[in-house]
Amino acid sequence: MIIVEKISEVREVVALMNRKNSLIGFVPTMGALHQGHSSLIKKAKFENQLVICSIFVNPTQFNNKNDLQNYPRTPEKDAELLSHSGCDILFMPPVSEIYPDKELLDMDFGHLELEMEGSFRPGHFKGVATVVSRLFEIVKPDRAYFGEKDFQQLAIIREMNRRLETGITIVGCETLREPDGLAMSSRNIHLTAAERNAAGIIYQSLIIAAKQINNEEIVSVRETAIAAIESFYGFKVQYLEFVDSQTLQPIDKWIYHANQRACIAVLTSHTRLIDNVAL
Ligand code: AMP
Repeated sequence: MIIVEKISEVREVVALMNRKNSLIGFVPTMGALHQGHSSLIKKAKFENQLVICSIFVNPTQFNNKNDLQNYPRTPEKDAELLSHSGCDILFMPPVSEIYPDKELLDMDFGHLELEMEGSFRPGHFKGVATVVSRLFEIVKPDRAYFGEKDFQQLAIIREMNRRLETGITIVGCETLREPDGLAMSSRNIHLTAAERNAAGIIYQSLIIAAKQINNEEIVSVRETAIAAIESFYGFKVQYLEFVDSQTLQPIDKWIYHANQRACIAVLTSHTRLIDNVAL
């Protein structure tokens, strides 16, 4: 695996390695990598000849300075996991390389960026869309891989990609979980031991909600799930929304064969956890 920091180096290495017109798969990340990230790399490697991963803790998507400062950074461990997962090029740019100026992508995502994560993290998705569009310009991949774990982010990126007509195929990838169901996340290390022990309740409650929803009203399904999660002292459900998977508009009722999703955010003592399941 080759590690580069400059845009010019990415372009050089891609040009060298891409002589035979091989397909490029791209996995953007913020580092502190785990098996969830590794599954994206492996999928990308299976479907493309060349895999590029970026590690960039993107300042413009953090609306809270402490959160940005405390975001875990484990570059050596990350490089090891990536090379074992089949990554060919690791791009780790400094902030100045991605943001020579402070301009953000001027794209209005309307409802998609305002609800759920958007309402708790104002401006977050503008930052995400900006950095991903910038990385797309640099890497010019054929396919880009994103986790369904960040379901709203995936919807925003699909929309941005469609409007910019990049020609890149966006591939959504299934969420990898710990044995108790907790979605793997770089932020899980901020959980206390007691919170980590209890955190499986989030996914377990979503699964129960997804089953109950075919014969109970959404309001009561939501109340039951929130009560179960908040029964652990210190967990606060910021939202639990039942939405259409494409538009992310709230649904009135569950419909067989419709593509619907339950999305949740839970605040713990030192971090926020998000998750979602298909209904
Ligand atoms: P992050 O570094 O957390 O911004 O994540 C980089 C990419 O990995 C995003 O597309 C995430 O959705 C994805 N990802 C994060 N956690 C998981 C997981 N548990 N399973 C699958 N993909 C994930």
